[in-house]
Amino acid sequence: MAALPRLRQQLGDRSFSTWIEPIRCTKEESGFRLEVGSRFVQEWVTRHYLASIRDHLAGVSGAMPTVRLVVTPHLAPTARTPELPPPPPRLTPPVRRPKLNRLVPEYTFDNFVVGASNEVAYRAARSLGDVSGPQFNPLFLCGGVGLGKTHLVNAVAHELLRRPARRRTACLPAEAFMNTLISALRQDQMNAFRDRFRQVDVLILDDVHFLAGKERTQEEFFHTFNALHANGKQVVLTSDKPPHAIADLEQRLRSRFEGGLIADIHPPTPEMRVAILIKKAARQGTELPETVARTIAQRSGATVRELEGALTRVLAASTLRNATLDPEFAERVLLPLSPPPVIVAVEAIQEAVSRHFHLSVADLKSYSRERNVTYARQVAMYLSRTLADSSFPTIAEKFGGRDHSTVIHAVRALEQKLDEDPSTGSLLTALEHELRSPSGA
Ligand code: ADP
Ligand code: MG
Repeated sequence: MAALPRLRQQLGDRSFSTWIEPIRCTKEESGFRLEVGSRFVQEWVTRHYLASIRDHLAGVSGAMPTVRLVVTPHLAPTARTPELPPPPPRLTPPVRRPKLNRLVPEYTFDNFVVGASNEVAYRAARSLGDVSGPQFNPLFLCGGVGLGKTHLVNAVAHELLRRPARRRTACLPAEAFMNTLISALRQDQMNAFRDRFRQVDVLILDDVHFLAGKERTQEEFFHTFNALHANGKQVVLTSDKPPHAIADLEQRLRSRFEGGLIADIHPPTPEMRVAILIKKAARQGTELPETVARTIAQRSGATVRELEGALTRVLAASTLRNATLDPEFAERVLLPLSPPPVIVAVEAIQEAVSRHFHLSVADLKSYSRERNVTYARQVAMYLSRTLADSSFPTIAEKFGGRDHSTVIHAVRALEQKLDEDPSTGSLLTALEHELRSPSGA
């Protein structure tokens, strides 16, 4: 297949070397026989590349050829290496067995919405349970935060553990791998650690970008990876960036990461966003009308995690307020929580308060101890603190250059009145309203 340079040009290097190059092509009487390593590849190539392949082969053979695409499992580049000696029998059982699977029960394939943005990753993940064995090793899932990497690899693990022919599976975050390694090192149990991770059929390490700069962990993982790979065991990795963009990653590990299929996960398309919302709501027992789903989808951030956050807010608000779930309601809930705070100047407060008490601003600033004046001053100082968000010294300065401790005292005194006397509460509410309303008073 490498003899199709124009096809390479058309598809780009990465797709060509991933999908086309590994195909074994034989000339048959009436056309060509193409061999691929698994059903997954067969389907994928048929759907996406077969027409182009046929066109290019027609160019080579001069006539429109018949092209047969068949599965030959042992074509897989990770085909077992039969000359490998069997592992030596173990005499002592491992002292301590590190926990291998940390799975979220809801992260299943059933709960995963598939669409244009994640299809390659999904289909590749699904194919890992395929009897015809691994084709891409490692499978490297790459996508931004909150786009479903952890969900997808958990789904793989659930699937592998559920089947009758359970495959020994380890699925854990790279960070947990490191922590397990550290405690094995501390407790002098490295043999147990190595056995544990090298005896699995499938090793899934989530968030390998975490390994950046962790040299000791990288080194240990490199050996684990090689041991598994050499035995035809599957490795699945996820990362928020492609291997070449992970800083401080040893070159040898990087080239291992790049040695299989790198499948990108992109932010979901608008239709997927709606489907995800409906599915998530259904899991919580709510039938989400599509119109509402569309509103939420339009109003929330790009990642699935943000979508979920928006959905949770809308569902919680509708339960709390016992409101009908309609687009207008969703819209209202998702509007910025409160309008931007109106900044009120201390001077405006002084004016409003003095007007209310039929005093002058100078009275408020004075040192008069007349009861009415003292009360009005306390109210004005309290509002300067809460509405103008001014500091005690600033307020003190603006009330005739007092000591700031008098302001503290005044604010405390008013808070106490607030507790004891309902009329103070309604007075403050009225003044706040007046001061906050944009038209002013
Ligand atoms: P990542 O590991 O990429 O940061 P997660 O797998 O933790 O992202 O996904 C974040 C949330 O979004 C999870 O609750 C997950 O169930 C959900 N999610 C992501 N993609 C999908 C999808 N395609 N279908 C359904 N839920 C999804
Ligand atoms: Mg994750």
